[in-house]
Amino acid sequence: MMAAPDDPFRSLVDIAPTIAELLGIPLPGADGAAIPELTDRLQRCDRVVLVIVDSLGYFTYQRLQPYMPHIQGTVIRCRAVADHTTPAIASILTGCHPDTHRTFITADVCTSPIKSILELAEERGIKSAVVIESEGAEAMKTKIDLVAGVDDSSDMLTYDAAIKERTINLLKHEPVLMAVHFRAIDRYAHEARSFDELAYAAERIDSHISEICRHLNRNTCVIVCGDHPIHGTCIEDDQDVALIVLDR
Ligand SMILES: [Zn+2]
Repeated sequence: MMAAPDDPFRSLVDIAPTIAELLGIPLPGADGAAIPELTDRLQRCDRVVLVIVDSLGYFTYQRLQPYMPHIQGTVIRCRAVADHTTPAIASILTGCHPDTHRTFITADVCTSPIKSILELAEERGIKSAVVIESEGAEAMKTKIDLVAGVDDSSDMLTYDAAIKERTINLLKHEPVLMAVHFRAIDRYAHEARSFDELAYAAERIDSHISEICRHLNRNTCVIVCGDHPIHGTCIEDDQDVALIVLDR
């Protein structure tokens, strides 16, 4: 489904085409299109780190921004493509809507007819990396070389800290394209935690991203996005998803 020409919003399926254009990776059959204001702004970038912050809806980002001082830059409002994490992340990484990529649960990763931008990069000899939950990581290991997994945990703050540590470790291999996934905001929303606890989870993720950025050179662009609007009632009426290209 293409956006109407007068649609002021972009979509999550536009992220992979944007990265593809920046890094020169062919992305045949994508439903989305590169976002011109980003490809223009990011011309000097030759590496990309894509940070997916689970449940970073557009209004959620607006509410949590005071607690995320490092997640600032060009902010773009994107339409969501799914309510749930797995199909949404598959859309972010393929540039296709769920009806096209058919990845609804982790097991589908192995059977989806559509390749992610990470796999397409590898096929072109462009080193790519991913740091995600262990089950998803196992599925990706058949497709790309640099994969690190973190076991699911009842303590999401510890989980996210481990994601950060693995990310910094994999950066030693100098991937050109890297995707990582932080989850504490989403988990806290599902647990119906207070706004203060949600803000604390946001602060921790902000500090992880800041630490990751200290390991990147100037020509690496950092793109932060949500996967779907937040669930639960902690932040009312969250609509659409935030996409932020960091000022660095
Ligand atoms: Zn999610």
